[in-house]
Amino acid sequence: MSGVIVVLGRQGSGKGTQCALLQQRYDGVVHVSTGDMLRDAAASGTALGRRAEAIMAAGELVPDDVMCDVVAERMRPLLDSGVTVLLDGFPRTPAQAASLTKLTAPGGLLGAVLLEVDVQEVSERMLARGRHDDTAAGIARRLELYETQTAPLVAWFTERGMLKRIDGTGTLPEVFDRLTAAIGGLVPLRLSR
Ligand code: ADP
Repeated sequence: MSGVIVVLGRQGSGKGTQCALLQQRYDGVVHVSTGDMLRDAAASGTALGRRAEAIMAAGELVPDDVMCDVVAERMRPLLDSGVTVLLDGFPRTPAQAASLTKLTAPGGLLGAVLLEVDVQEVSERMLARGRHDDTAAGIARRLELYETQTAPLVAWFTERGMLKRIDGTGTLPEVFDRLTAAIGGLVPLRLSR
């Protein structure tokens, strides 16, 4: 069955790393990262990329209407193809959550998993990672937007009985095992050959 699992968590909580591993390990699991999509668009110099570049560098959010269109275009063929999408970086605001509900067929939104790592640890991880937008000011701004815009989605998914919380601290394989168990409870997982 096709569906979408939303992966929530602060910046630097390990969403991208873990989702990439899950896609590699399991058949029919596709990782969709809006941050990666925007960075690819910026690298190829598309209209979207040019628009997103400065916003990303400042740690601000790309406007909801733009993001919702971009995600809808990327997701439609995937949803038709029967894969399980791990959606990383979207929704990030209540308006984006409403848009995702419209995009998925009834029952198509399988659930959400929240990778829990505290502010202190994610800040250290991002500074060590040193991505282009991982400056002290950029990190502070993104974490602030996470608390005001994205954290309310935790309540949104909880109210719908759709949220699983996962301890995102520990080694990479430890977190991977916890995440696999949570996702395996939402959708059957088949190892890739
Ligand atoms: P992080 O979570 O560490 O900020 P991402 O790779 O998820 O990293 O996102 C990088 C940047 O891309 C964000 O700071 C934001 O500017 C933009 N972005 C990604 N996803 C969204 C989204 N759903 N809505 C608005 N902006 C987004």
